[in-house]
Amino acid sequence: MSDISKLQTPSSELNLTERDSKVIWHPYTQMKNALPHIPIVKGEGVYVFDENGKRYIDAVSSWWVNIHGHAHPHIAKKVAEQLNILEHVIFAGFTHEPAVLLAERLLPILPGKQDKVFYTDNGSTAVEVALKMCLQYWDNKGKPKTRILAFKNAYHGDTFGAMSVSGRSIFTDAFNSLLFDVDFIDLPNEDNISHLTSYISQLTDTACFIFEPLILGSGGMLMYEAKYLDELIAASKQAGILIIADEVMTGFGRTGTYFACEKLDNKPDIICLSKGLTGGTMPLGITTCTDEIFTAFLSEDKLKTLYHGHSFTANPIACVASLASLDILLQKETLANIKRIEAKHAAFLLEIKAYPKVKAVRQTGTIIAIEWETGNETSYLSNLRNLLYSYFLEKGIILRPLGNIIYILPPYIISDEDLDYIYEAIKSALVEI
Ligand SMILES: *Cc1c(COP(=O)(O)O)cnc(C)c1O
Repeated sequence: MSDISKLQTPSSELNLTERDSKVIWHPYTQMKNALPHIPIVKGEGVYVFDENGKRYIDAVSSWWVNIHGHAHPHIAKKVAEQLNILEHVIFAGFTHEPAVLLAERLLPILPGKQDKVFYTDNGSTAVEVALKMCLQYWDNKGKPKTRILAFKNAYHGDTFGAMSVSGRSIFTDAFNSLLFDVDFIDLPNEDNISHLTSYISQLTDTACFIFEPLILGSGGMLMYEAKYLDELIAASKQAGILIIADEVMTGFGRTGTYFACEKLDNKPDIICLSKGLTGGTMPLGITTCTDEIFTAFLSEDKLKTLYHGHSFTANPIACVASLASLDILLQKETLANIKRIEAKHAAFLLEIKAYPKVKAVRQTGTIIAIEWETGNETSYLSNLRNLLYSYFLEKGIILRPLGNIIYILPPYIISDEDLDYIYEAIKSALVEI
């Protein structure tokens, strides 16, 4: 019989990358020819460090979550304190201070009038809840509506409902026949806006319109103007369509204001939040809604209940991390940093616009995206993406191009020097690759 305690000790001959490749399946990764996964042993501010002490600038905020940098002392302190008070409790039938306080502090700063917070644990589930709230809202009202309106190239997450309202792409290809049918519209612009609004005004069976405000993230950092979104929302409201703003990526300062929908006159009925919510410390999702939505679920009839919940709903550690992240976000210095990044990006945009390999460059708030000229080879699968990815890694910068689109989405504490270092690296890539 083998000695189980020995089997539990990993082989010391293998390094972490090798041990990883024996037991781990990584997200969004073709494991057959994946580059070795880099073992990160420490995070500090805008940097992460690998086991050889090499330093990387986290220029994508670790998949857009890490808005204040890594291992922020204020968040760390609050989380450590909470661990000794209450790590978790079932959220049906029970409540706790961090969940209530977070809702009390968050609702007043959201765009429009949001009245209730529903907790989940990631962006996809925040979207699932939003969709279920809308569909069941109409059902509860005795006027069932089953269609949903969304943008082509949208990205709302990887669970089945969230995938269904996302654009069909290589991400969804294996599942397309099982995804529910959605009406997809183009991003609005000067030329198509009147066509789009008249299309929307004729919809009768549409429960809701879900969108990423101002910028489609995973779809390629595709940007569009607030004034056209405002028109789409107005037309939707006119047609009795509920409005879901998926601010999972845009929330918490990313677009230059605390929330992208602040730039709109017409406000959403429902807002989805995650990513930056906890400052990148813990997984947490939030779906907020108006009293109008909430009251449609109040009834003596059990069937009108929103039957949805996750084991880790409103985890106290995650709520406390969010409160600490909010403390930092609301400091004057943070808004000043956001404005500083915006201004530096804008200057860089002007500088590189004329490079022959720059097909397009665009900016919304702290996000800048550069589209590489590729002739006719533009798919996500093109090897340009891998070339660029490795090129920047080698220079100690984490940038994850979306196909031929490079974007910077930095923690707000990034210094001017580090931004300049990234800009220089991009300029040399534009010449060398
Ligand atoms: C990332 C993202 C999601 C999904 O969030 P996860 O936490 O990764 O499930 C949903 N919507 C938008 C706009 C996103 O960027």
